[in-house]
Amino acid sequence: MVKHIFITGGVVSSLGKGLTSAAIGMLLENRGLRVSMQKLDPYINVDPGTMSPYQHGEVYVTDDGAETDLDLGHYERFTHAKLTKHSNYTTGKIYSEVIRKERKGDYLGRTVQVIPHITDEIRNAILNAVAPDTDVAICEIGGTVGDIESLPFLEAVRQLALAREFDDCLFVHLTLLPYLKASGEMKTKPTQQSVSKLREIGVQPHILICRTEKPLMEEMREKISLFCNVPKRCVIEERDVDFSIYEVPVNLQHQGLDALIAEKLRLPAAPKNENYEWREMLEKIRTPKTTTEIAVVGKYIQLNDAYKSIYESLTHAGVANDAKIKLRKIAAEDVETLGAAQTLAGVRGILVPGGFGDRGVLGKILATRYARENRIPFLGLCLGMQCAVIEFARNVLNIPRAHSSEFDTRTPDPVIDFMEEQRNMSDKGGNMRLGAYLCTLKNGTRAHAAYDAAEVWERHRHRYEFNNKYRERFEQAGMVVSGVNVERNLVEVVEIPDHPFFIGVQFHPEFKSRPLEPHPLFREFVRASISAEMSLQPAIH
Ligand code: GLN
Repeated sequence: MVKHIFITGGVVSSLGKGLTSAAIGMLLENRGLRVSMQKLDPYINVDPGTMSPYQHGEVYVTDDGAETDLDLGHYERFTHAKLTKHSNYTTGKIYSEVIRKERKGDYLGRTVQVIPHITDEIRNAILNAVAPDTDVAICEIGGTVGDIESLPFLEAVRQLALAREFDDCLFVHLTLLPYLKASGEMKTKPTQQSVSKLREIGVQPHILICRTEKPLMEEMREKISLFCNVPKRCVIEERDVDFSIYEVPVNLQHQGLDALIAEKLRLPAAPKNENYEWREMLEKIRTPKTTTEIAVVGKYIQLNDAYKSIYESLTHAGVANDAKIKLRKIAAEDVETLGAAQTLAGVRGILVPGGFGDRGVLGKILATRYARENRIPFLGLCLGMQCAVIEFARNVLNIPRAHSSEFDTRTPDPVIDFMEEQRNMSDKGGNMRLGAYLCTLKNGTRAHAAYDAAEVWERHRHRYEFNNKYRERFEQAGMVVSGVNVERNLVEVVEIPDHPFFIGVQFHPEFKSRPLEPHPLFREFVRASISAEMSLQPAIH
């Protein structure tokens, strides 16, 4: 019988609940258990696909094409749990299902209500996410306890636990212990109040994980235990990490959190796993042999969460190359106003990420040109690849009005275009190419060498594609198509062989990089940035 862990958060948002959930998943996997991971989000959007990255951060895409919360990225980076469209439910997704059933007449004349209809649907959603053979299903409940909108979720998990044996379900509550500088004190009151809110709705947490800036002293632990009705040894400290989020599982393990969970859920005993490779990876992050500066030229650069998986992938690639990545985060619009030389001079690699809408596109195109002409290693992801194609068309093929039909519907030369079969789909989101597609790589290309494979699966999230009408002209002028989706005849990877490293991919490799298995394209991009012989000519633009 599968065991359940429910993870809630209190006091403030952005406490790192996703990271903590992922870390717990990793520690349980280390004990030989199979975990499944799920996030419940209390907002009303059906999924984050239509939200601005400024609102929500990155939209993470699963193999089966679900557009999900970025916490799922943490789950995949820390565990081997298989994530699907069932791994992320929002209030909107739950309600749409209930309303669909109501219209169909499934409720047989009854009044449809939050309890039991919405809560039943949430319970189904939780059970749907449990993959076969799972030992422990970890479910993170988004939002903060005390919010009106998270109530149905908390009520549903309360009911779920009620229906099970007492050692089948575990409630872990993550809170904040603020430190007041003026009085030099750590305060427990917000934690007490948050736990009391939870108890009001019938949930008594078994384990409290307390985010702190300073060490959690014995008397504080006692106080929290007493007021929150949680045994002292179940009050766990999660102090701010020194240099990397990948320290979190190690720190939690150090305090015996995994053993505590195993004991509470009566999970089989397991030999202690020293996480040797993981610790070695942390050591490499802490003491890199070299540094390389990489520019990320994006539209949502002010918000770190908007490019979460990209930054993490660069960190992984840094570890693989024994290098620290110094990031130069550049707003694409600054490249337009200040110029490429002004903003990019001195960087050893340029990465242009994905995006939607035309704000900043010109800046991205200028950055791409600067990388190509100055022989600076370049990696273009999705829109970044499309910009590389547009730039090459304009400046190498001499097609001055070349553009993507996303940004100029009347361009005479749509080198990036909407595919015919997508035209009739009207819902935003309905016409996107989403999820994993097979990409066949051409022998002898840099992409093929990086992957060391002829076929790879990569995840997509876009509407527009390379326009095959122009393919021959590109290839004749030195931009090689090194990866294609054979089934649909779509260009997936382009590269310039006569350049230290210049690759654009229509997909999102950042969703598949892991700390111990860096993505080959990121790894080779960073390697090139460390060793590339770049042009010494003065900058041109
Ligand atoms: N806006 C582009 C498209 O829809 C690129 C999308 C992306 O970068 N994710 O094709």
